[in-house]
Amino acid sequence: MANGGPVEHGYPHLETVRAAVTALYRRLSYDTVRTFSVSVAPVDVAFCDTDDLHLGAQRVARELVRHYRLPDARLIVGFREMTHAANVELASGPEYFVELNDRFRTHRRDIGAALAHEVAHVYLHRLDLSFPGTRENEILTDTTATYLGAGWLLLDAFREDEASSQKLGYLTPEEFGYVLAKRSLVFGEDPSVWFTSAQAYTAYTKGLAVARRDAEQPPLTGAGWAGRRRYARERRHAEDHRVSAGRPEVPYSFTPAEHGSLRVSFPCPTCHQRIRVPVQGRVRARCGLCRTVLECDT
Ligand SMILES: [Zn+2]
Ligand SMILES: [Zn+2]
Repeated sequence: MANGGPVEHGYPHLETVRAAVTALYRRLSYDTVRTFSVSVAPVDVAFCDTDDLHLGAQRVARELVRHYRLPDARLIVGFREMTHAANVELASGPEYFVELNDRFRTHRRDIGAALAHEVAHVYLHRLDLSFPGTRENEILTDTTATYLGAGWLLLDAFREDEASSQKLGYLTPEEFGYVLAKRSLVFGEDPSVWFTSAQAYTAYTKGLAVARRDAEQPPLTGAGWAGRRRYARERRHAEDHRVSAGRPEVPYSFTPAEHGSLRVSFPCPTCHQRIRVPVQGRVRARCGLCRTVLECDT
């Protein structure tokens, strides 16, 4: 887990984040994702500076291991001077050695956040799920932690004022907010009450707006007027030219189907798997991966 430097904002990793959500559904299945309907509770990972450092770190680690349902995994948490915030040795288990940066000795309330990320590494390692490339893999790890209910701690560790800033993990604060919002939309959970950091709360509300927009794209019936107009224009173009009108600016694309008809493909607003439906007015589809019912006006 990286540490330090100016805090990056916005959505530079959004494509990888969305691919990570899809990969998670593919690897875990809908049923397993549903078992993570309850997030890690603030009280379960609370850690104040008067708690014993080592006992407290082990307690929080056990809580996270329990959350990710790794019954036999045992985390051995140590502290040392290092440039990174934290690191985990991914061996065959059941013992995993986690090193935390020495500064957590005096920032104990953020130990839960650091461990949320490191235990997600163990979880993905056990699932044998990874992305090629270190950076992509770290984004998968943060997305997994957040989507499965532990990563809100990482967002809450983000604090910024004129004098200093702190952020853990590889996603920007807004991207953490986005994944957390996607989770909250699926599970009907409201994480906003857990934040101790005002900046984290702001990032969550921004991410929530972007997450809501995923369900407001044509051909979904939730699309707005401007989006629908644009969609009608693109569809006419596809009808006239019989070519795929896949454009990077719009998330949907048309492909020719049998008997001169068209099909439109677009990302599922929940899991981002591509959905294909015939272009024939009102269509109701169900995503095979995350089971979201999709009301479309094609
Ligand atoms: Zn990592
Ligand atoms: Zn889906």
